[in-house]
Amino acid sequence: MVQTKEEKAAYKRKWYQDNREGILAKRRNFYQEHKKEIAAYKRKWYQDNKGEILISVRKYYQCHKEEKAASDKKYAQKHKEEIAARNKNHRELHKEEIKVKKKKHYQEYKDEILAKRREFYQGNKNAITIRHKKYYKGHREEIIVQQRGYRRDHKDEIVAQQKKYHRNYPEIARISGHKRRLKKQQLKQLYTSKEWDDKVDATNGICPQCSRRYEDVRPFCVTVDHCPSVNIVPVGFCYTINDVFPRCGSCNSANGVYGGYTRLDNFGVMK
Ligand SMILES: [Zn+2]
Repeated sequence: MVQTKEEKAAYKRKWYQDNREGILAKRRNFYQEHKKEIAAYKRKWYQDNKGEILISVRKYYQCHKEEKAASDKKYAQKHKEEIAARNKNHRELHKEEIKVKKKKHYQEYKDEILAKRREFYQGNKNAITIRHKKYYKGHREEIIVQQRGYRRDHKDEIVAQQKKYHRNYPEIARISGHKRRLKKQQLKQLYTSKEWDDKVDATNGICPQCSRRYEDVRPFCVTVDHCPSVNIVPVGFCYTINDVFPRCGSCNSANGVYGGYTRLDNFGVMK
């Protein structure tokens, strides 16, 4: 008796249905007994075919990008807590490795990362500022304590960093400090930066008070000494070029080698 193709297929199906439990149990048993071999075999197969696999995965991903994103999103939402717990666990377990890896990645892609960050910051400046302000308001006390602790624990590093920064950007350091002070006091200056620069140039990089080089004394650049002092003048006071003098940072904060000098003695402006 000759069986048609359809009859053969139907017979096979029926046989499978009748023996399903037994077949599955057998398979499960086989898998349990040969677990390690199977895993090793799979691993080897993956290693041998890695290139092709990755290409085809990538191709599939490109073709099904949106579906994949949607299904990933759905999965993430459904298993939110599991995933978070798993990730946390993973991070705890591999703390050091992750740190090293991150550092390496940062070093390798530093320029791109910084460029990206800058770009992001420029595009979201206002939102970021608002968020930071809000956060600061809500956590002010903590932040202050934290900052104080950090400054105490990293004193030497901070000084070294400042030193480096001021060496590299003496102009920025000078101008920003100067501007801040002026703003704080709401004072005005009636001289140009050219006039000031000429006055600084005339000192040849040496503090007229203590004869040390500006760059050898904290903050390692020339500072503006105001006379009369910004601390005592009324709001709205106008400084002219004759009221400001180049000094090293130490003399300017009255900690000069003379331990607080008589201001402007050697300029003959005020006694
Ligand atoms: Zn000095």
